[in-house]
Amino acid sequence: MIEYADLHLHTNYSDSTLTPSQVVFQAKQFQIGCIAITDHDTVDGMEEAVAAGQAHGVEIIPGIELSCEAGNREIHILGFFFDYQHPDFHQHLLRMQDSRVARMGRMLEKLNGIKAGGDISLEEVCARGGTTAVGRMHLAMIMKEKGLVKNVQTAFDRYLAEGGPAYVAKYRQTPAQAIALIKKFGGVAVLAHPMLTRVDEMIPAMVRDGLGGLEVYYPNVSSTIIEYYEGIGRKHNLLLTGGSDAHGAGKDNTAIGKIRLPYRFVEAMKQTLEA
Ligand code: AMP
Ligand code: ZN
Ligand code: FE
Ligand code: FE
Repeated sequence: MIEYADLHLHTNYSDSTLTPSQVVFQAKQFQIGCIAITDHDTVDGMEEAVAAGQAHGVEIIPGIELSCEAGNREIHILGFFFDYQHPDFHQHLLRMQDSRVARMGRMLEKLNGIKAGGDISLEEVCARGGTTAVGRMHLAMIMKEKGLVKNVQTAFDRYLAEGGPAYVAKYRQTPAQAIALIKKFGGVAVLAHPMLTRVDEMIPAMVRDGLGGLEVYYPNVSSTIIEYYEGIGRKHNLLLTGGSDAHGAGKDNTAIGKIRLPYRFVEAMKQTLEA
């Protein structure tokens, strides 16, 4: 009997400091018997996660967190239960990953231009961890290690946050395209952390485009806000999901164990997919 799940977890295949095996092991310690690995724009951590899940008796749901943009806002779409091994799906991800490398090059140019970068090379950022989806968190960690900023958050606040002096937007996939991609490969598309992204006015359009769920249970969110998003979910007949969004040492306010989603939410998702 599985009691709890965590449907939003990163590994070192995107921008967490934890390996898939470590994520599985930590989940197990919190009696979380089912997890989804939702790395940014990659599914490369799945193989290791599935092996570790088998060894430790933890159910692994294929997942992803796709970066999107709409109306100049960055929106994250989670996908679950899609055919993550399909070659066409991989082709699409490869394009996103290539564009991330090009984007990182432009961010480094900006950073070096304002004399904040201390000459960080693209090779250095790309070599980070097991990553195939290079991003701002990798750069922030290197900046911290080089003593250019006192911590990762400062790197974001001063340079890397949306609109910051070294910020460059990523590959411009729209939420509609991301939702269509997930659905094409048999999965459920879910709007990630709406309480952080604050694009409530775009939710009805996303629902028309095939959005299947809303990530309502998220760390450090008040019960008032949670109830508000539960209401939006009910109104549009959406599945509700939740997860910690843990990134290991990358983000210290979102550790594994912060969200223990009752397993019935996973069962509801499976029932929807079967129907
Ligand atoms: P990227 O995919 O390269 O755009 O990086 C996205 C990741 O950067 C997110 O998953 C967060 O972990 C982190 N991030 C984005 N904005 C901020 C911010 N303002 N403060 C701290 N971390 C952030
Ligand atoms: Zn991240
Ligand atoms: Fe996100
Ligand atoms: Fe995330």
